[in-house]
Amino acid sequence: MQDERRILTGWGRTSHARTRAVSPASEAEVAGALAAPAGRLIAFGGGRSYGDAALNDGGDTLLTGALNRILSVDEASGVLVCEPGVTFRELIDRFLDRGWVAPVSPGTAFATIGGAVANDVHGKNHDRAGSFGDHVLWLDLLAPDGRLLRLSSRENVELFRATIGGIGLTGVILKIAFAMKRVSSSFVTVREARAGNLDALMAALRAARAQSTYTVAWIDATATGRSLGRGILEAAEHAEAGFPARPARRALRLPVDFPDFALNPLSIGLFNQLYYRRVPAAGRARTLPFDAFLYPLDALLDWNRMYGRRGFYQFQCVIPEAEADRGIRALLETIAASRSASFLAVLKTLGSAGRGFLSFPFPGFTLALDFPARAKTPELMARLERLTLDHGGRVYLAKDACLSSEGFRRMYPQLPHYEAVLHEIDPMGRLRSDMARRLRIGDA
Ligand SMILES: Cc1cc2nc3c(=O)[nH]c(=O)nc-3n(C[C@H](O)[C@H](O)[C@H](O)COP(=O)(O)OP(=O)(O)OC[C@H]3O[C@@H](n4cnc5c(N)ncnc54)[C@H](O)[C@@H]3O)c2cc1C
Repeated sequence: MQDERRILTGWGRTSHARTRAVSPASEAEVAGALAAPAGRLIAFGGGRSYGDAALNDGGDTLLTGALNRILSVDEASGVLVCEPGVTFRELIDRFLDRGWVAPVSPGTAFATIGGAVANDVHGKNHDRAGSFGDHVLWLDLLAPDGRLLRLSSRENVELFRATIGGIGLTGVILKIAFAMKRVSSSFVTVREARAGNLDALMAALRAARAQSTYTVAWIDATATGRSLGRGILEAAEHAEAGFPARPARRALRLPVDFPDFALNPLSIGLFNQLYYRRVPAAGRARTLPFDAFLYPLDALLDWNRMYGRRGFYQFQCVIPEAEADRGIRALLETIAASRSASFLAVLKTLGSAGRGFLSFPFPGFTLALDFPARAKTPELMARLERLTLDHGGRVYLAKDACLSSEGFRRMYPQLPHYEAVLHEIDPMGRLRSDMARRLRIGDA
């Protein structure tokens, strides 16, 4: 098994870890890495979490990239069993043209299935489909003490609920069984409509969530005054087109870090204006390959370098339905006044709560956006954390690098259940991450 000293970062490149990275290719090698007498360990999948969820500064990191086999597929039921390092990209490449897709997918295909379980990720179909964990039939977990455990809604139930959305601290997931979804076409028809302000955008999302399979809104977080919260609603359905050849997706790569001055309030504001106007005032409908719709940012590899060497923070929260109008408005007013928001932000609705003790989703609106890292950004993030708490919301750990441990405890009321499971399964704290230390998980 390879073993190398590396510096790993989160996708936002503000969190770094000097680590000893191992790349097991089999269950026995994972067991060997877990049993090693050395320090603490965390699994690292596709590295698409923005902050420190998969980082372990000064300790060991288990890279799951070589655990990437699809073990079985039942073409009648769609049940797929795979290792954790399989990516959404591989599922698209192998199954889309055969009429099967992952039941839920995040906005990047470079995320792994292990990472999707550990953050209980959601997609543009959350109102209809819930989060990834809702589709997991069972998991095989190598516990910190080396036991191999089968987890499901019938076996080791508490550990199952702690592992879904459990940010990698309950053990190393070795196998995942989940049901894929049948689709009628590898293309989707996307209806796009402008909304001139926040009330109109939220009303459009509320109407669309009841009618459409996929919904998302791009929001201009730099707009102020009467245009505050203007954006573009996208609602999509699988097309009637069947499975004609899809155009090859040629991704470009950003070869260098942009200089810091490239992203400034002027260039960002201008970009957002142009983006808003790309859809005609009367709206439009177009047909797109499913993967181009799901993963628009994947067309530019290493796009995180656009933020320069200092990187960027992403903020994503969910505000419960009853507070959503007030809460999202308060957040956007603060963000627009800070003049530090980046390109397009995303506003989505979320349906039911996830199964995991630390699952992020609950019914309401979720807002996600990037901020280039500047001296004052952590202060802004702290203000957004307080506003989120004031409106009964929570911050998404997959995107987080800044949340306080006090805020985290208030946002995740099932944390005591999760910590009780952790104390039982990992009394010595063998699995730890920088996020766990920052949020003082398991310290209570
Ligand atoms: C462009 C972009 C768009 C995104 N869009 C969305 C979105 O729409 N919805 C959404 O929910 N998220 C979204 N995300 C976040 C992303 O889906 C999650 O962070 C996801 O967990 C990343 O998976 P990964 O394989 O990169 O995992 P990593 O980031 O490497 O790790 C994530 C967590 O999983 C744990 N883990 C990984 N493998 C294992 C394993 N085998 N056993 C135990 N624990 C493991 C790690 O320890 C860590 O805690 C987006 C991210 C990007 C960059």
